[in-house]
Amino acid sequence: MKQEPYKIDVKDFLAKGRVGDRSDIEINEKLNIQLDEENVLREISGKVTLTLLETEILAEFGINYFCETICARCLKEFERQGKVKFERGYLIGRRIPEEDKLLVDKNFQIEIGKPALEEITLDIPMKPLCDKSCKGLSPNPKH
Ligand SMILES: [Zn+2]
Repeated sequence: MKQEPYKIDVKDFLAKGRVGDRSDIEINEKLNIQLDEENVLREISGKVTLTLLETEILAEFGINYFCETICARCLKEFERQGKVKFERGYLIGRRIPEEDKLLVDKNFQIEIGKPALEEITLDIPMKPLCDKSCKGLSPNPKH
């Protein structure tokens, strides 16, 4: 996933594939995407499994990510690793997306960057901790 949309070409998969066919695509990208004030996405890796269905391509994502973040207790910067699993359907030969569905575009590509960023953003904790036992700045946190 680069800053620009991150697309997978599915032309051959559609041309040669039959319903039920599957294809694995490996992902490994170094990144520098500011997700919010405290989180910078540095790397994603993993796999997208495509399955050809009658009217759509089902994409199942299993993605590990590394995010630079700031500990909510000690305010130290650290690198947090996370994992997201999710799926998206990409409609074939359609121009208008349905609810919850994306499209195979006219160049026979599917855009995976945006859904991946959506899911990673949802996965980021409100109060990340550098360590579960982090004592923080104060020995007596107010909670
Ligand atoms: Zn900490």
